[in-house]
Amino acid sequence: MKQTAFEKSIDSASQIMLQKAEDEGIETAWDRYEQQLPQCSFGQLGICCRNCNMGPCRIDPFGEGTEKGICGATADIIVARNLLRMIAAGAAAHSDHARDAVLTFKKMSEGKAGSYRIKDEAKLYSLASEYGISAEEKSREEVAVELASALLSEFGKQEGPILCTKRAPESRLKLWSELGIEPRGIDREIVECMHRTHIGVDNDATHILLHGLRTSLSDGWGGSMIATEIQDVLFGTPEPKKSTVNLGVLSHDKVNVIVHGHEPILSEMIVEAAEDPELLELAEEKGATGINVAGICCTGNETLMRHGTPIAGTFLQQELAVITGAVEAMVVDVQCIMPSLGNLTGCYHTKFISTSPKADFPGTARMEFHEEEAYATAKEIVKAAVENFPNRNLKKVSIPEEKQECMVGFSAEAILKALGGSPAPLIEAIAGGAIKGIGAVVGCNNVKIQHNYGHVNLVKELIKNNVLVVTTGCNAIACAEAGLLVPEAAALAGDGLKGVCEALGIPPVLHMGSCVDISRILVLASAVANSLGVDISDLPAAGAAPEWMSEKAVSIGAYVVSSGVFTVLGTIPPVLGSQAVTALLTKGLDGVIGASFAVEPDPFKAADLMLEHIEGKRKALGLK
Ligand code: SF4
Ligand code: SF4
Repeated sequence: MKQTAFEKSIDSASQIMLQKAEDEGIETAWDRYEQQLPQCSFGQLGICCRNCNMGPCRIDPFGEGTEKGICGATADIIVARNLLRMIAAGAAAHSDHARDAVLTFKKMSEGKAGSYRIKDEAKLYSLASEYGISAEEKSREEVAVELASALLSEFGKQEGPILCTKRAPESRLKLWSELGIEPRGIDREIVECMHRTHIGVDNDATHILLHGLRTSLSDGWGGSMIATEIQDVLFGTPEPKKSTVNLGVLSHDKVNVIVHGHEPILSEMIVEAAEDPELLELAEEKGATGINVAGICCTGNETLMRHGTPIAGTFLQQELAVITGAVEAMVVDVQCIMPSLGNLTGCYHTKFISTSPKADFPGTARMEFHEEEAYATAKEIVKAAVENFPNRNLKKVSIPEEKQECMVGFSAEAILKALGGSPAPLIEAIAGGAIKGIGAVVGCNNVKIQHNYGHVNLVKELIKNNVLVVTTGCNAIACAEAGLLVPEAAALAGDGLKGVCEALGIPPVLHMGSCVDISRILVLASAVANSLGVDISDLPAAGAAPEWMSEKAVSIGAYVVSSGVFTVLGTIPPVLGSQAVTALLTKGLDGVIGASFAVEPDPFKAADLMLEHIEGKRKALGLK
């Protein structure tokens, strides 16, 4: 049966837009999901294989029909191979993003990308020293050039672990080394995934999955961490600041430019161009009172964290933003961008502008972006949006009023600064029981779960039970929309957490950034573990991705668990067709890596699992 707008989302701004879509006969992701039902159960269970052209092959999940593919691959092999390919794709997406960020940094250092500057010099020098680069008698640019080539070599390194892994506790490094999963070059691990899953190569489920963990570690402690660090050097390390979220951030009288995707390389320039006096004058000529830049997904999180630029919504709100009829330009780079935006923007006056040399979509006005002319291209893009303002059809415009304040910008550095320079006060609060533990809640939206229901309810349960939540990605945006990212949200927390938040003036849910910034969580967890002299797996901490959908999330889940954090998934991964793989992921990994996965779509039950885990870890540490 068709879902109502209320059943599709818990967010009232989204409900209003979903109703508008229905009234105007506009199709959204939810309609296309309904058209897909029932979804293929072979795919859901992970037991179909297309890895060679003798197939496709599929396994009978009930054990009554075919038990093997034509080559003899069993359900265990097929499920493990499919999972490995998902990890490879996710790790590739994060790491290719990182590569582009480093290449921009390199061009800037060589004087070939004049629009960019080094914004965090201290981080430049501390990263350089981590990489063994001496700054003595060298200009800042010379140090930057050396650092860029050292970072680029992490992608193709053939031997030895990538360097950022040294940030992990000693015991974790030792464990990875003993298991043979310390990550080598990022590209090498990803290529090896593709090799191993080719017909007739790796055909042992456990062996395949161990390489999955290794590849995911090259993402978490490699690609994602490098992206975060170098973006901080280029654009500044985030510090706490206030902003606003949800569709109500769109303006009735300003030119609305949405930046959507994942990379801040272009959006940093768009934010600057939106303040260009020439373009502001043009906007006035066209009848607008200014230029309003708003974000969607992680490009939005990047500009939110560093500039306080408002965010219009999560992954599932990208279509809803266009449906307001008030968006002059939807500017996209890479990842999580629905190809449906082409048709959809055609129903309104919105210009759909694709900018990445790697990503094009049907129905875009292509304005390819290259660092050498970064600001000029950004200006051209904003100008196209401004010139589109008079084409807004006022009869089609409806912007929901919902707009929520939020406090963002909690990089690991900012959190440590708020704590007075060391994790000691946080550790004291945990040891004393005011804070029971740390919950890392991250990830996407997924039409299989009511929009934001999993995110918001899980996080509310955790803070109610005195668990401090750190968040990134679309979970962070969902929490912001629900009013959980303001210091006043401490009223929803248990007494202990509430007291700590009130004393520090912080929200009980700390926004740490975009999806690649989950690496910030790893750095924070390592700092806490190192202070206590324990491993990450000993900490009273747990992770969750209540509404995950992307392959990047599979890589994230794998590296978070491999780093020692028990993680609850809110949507079911395509692995249930193999009992062996399912058992390994949910139980077996515990004995190997000190953490495992659980799957629980109900956010209240998921919170119980996390709380139980946190209590167990407290007990093991001798804490009450
Ligand atoms: S690799 Fe094996 S299971 Fe996969 S399609 Fe080819 S024959 Fe079938
Ligand atoms: S959380 Fe998921 S949907 Fe949201 S931006 Fe990140 S990868 Fe995309």
